[in-house]
Amino acid sequence: MILILHPNTSSTSDEYQQLQQFLAQLPKIKTQTHEVKGAQQTLTEIYLIGDTASLVLEDMKDLPTVERVIRISDDYRILGRHKDDKRASSFAYNGVTFSQDNLHIFAGLCAVDNKEHVEKMMQALQSQGQVCARMGAYKPRSNPYSFQGHGKNCLPYVFELAGKYDIKVIAMEITHDSHIQEINQALQQTGHPTGVMLQIGTRNTQNFELLKAAGKQTNYPILLKRGFGITLEESLNAAEYLASEGNSNVIFALRGMKTNMGDPHRNFIDFAQVPVVKRLTRMPVCIDPSHSVGSRETSPDNIMDVFHVTAQGIIAGANMVLVDFHPHPSSALVDGPQALRLNELPYFIEDCVIAREAYEKRKKLNIRFQKESAIV
Ligand code: PEP
Ligand code: MN
Repeated sequence: MILILHPNTSSTSDEYQQLQQFLAQLPKIKTQTHEVKGAQQTLTEIYLIGDTASLVLEDMKDLPTVERVIRISDDYRILGRHKDDKRASSFAYNGVTFSQDNLHIFAGLCAVDNKEHVEKMMQALQSQGQVCARMGAYKPRSNPYSFQGHGKNCLPYVFELAGKYDIKVIAMEITHDSHIQEINQALQQTGHPTGVMLQIGTRNTQNFELLKAAGKQTNYPILLKRGFGITLEESLNAAEYLASEGNSNVIFALRGMKTNMGDPHRNFIDFAQVPVVKRLTRMPVCIDPSHSVGSRETSPDNIMDVFHVTAQGIIAGANMVLVDFHPHPSSALVDGPQALRLNELPYFIEDCVIAREAYEKRKKLNIRFQKESAIV
């Protein structure tokens, strides 16, 4: 059960203290308090965990400072959607709002290789009106002898160049909790010219200690990739780990699944599950067409598979696209074969806009259909 308090309830107010005293004496029930900081107001949510079946919803609504009460099932307590659940499915970070109702493109380097390429990428993004980017500094590689990323050494110039070109949020994978500290330090050292969304990759979806470390901090939102060889439920539970530690600013990324069925793509594309994740949880949903397709193959219509699957995800309501670009893919140190080129950026963005418009039209069509079928 979740008690949602009136906005901006102070934890020092008498009423709040009365509520806490009442909850403390409930048998076999533990409480967990989460503060959800929005642009305008702070919402306090109190999670009651344990034997809540005996609690009467109406009685709980009458408690001091309580505005609403939601009875929740065991699954995805914080991030999930529950019956009569009207909690927000959005959050704001560094001036950018992430929501189940909008769309952001995070194009950029799979792996940062040098300053010149970072600058070219940032410049191209700004010229297309983009405020988000992807930049890999810590690269988990299958082969121990492959380039592992420049790590903390590249962070100062990546952040400074992001600031120079007005990039507000960089999605950056971390593979160890010490990387959070390194990002903190580099942002501090450079005067916070940009923001960071911590990315947890598909190889770490169930790295519970990393999830706990990322979930404990609330400076940065988190982009959690779906595990490529586990069930959707297991991946959504991994997201819930982040929230249960205190950070519910989480975006869930679909990036394809590993199969042994001789697929034409690097991974089996799972973007048909965008609406499913939005139905089960309140997380905005990201698609990663680069790591799922893994090539620049085109179909007879001359359109690249990367473009096709991006459009398929967006037309199904995706809220974020994470996509590899590189100024010189042939010299990229990681994932060159799947990278799009800078001259393709405006076309990629326009293609995304077309698919998004189609999604908006589909939503309108559905509203019309619902209305018309209600009359009949
Ligand atoms: C990435 O986005 O750079 C990446 C390594 O993705 P994934 O974890 O999905 O393989
Ligand atoms: Mn990659």
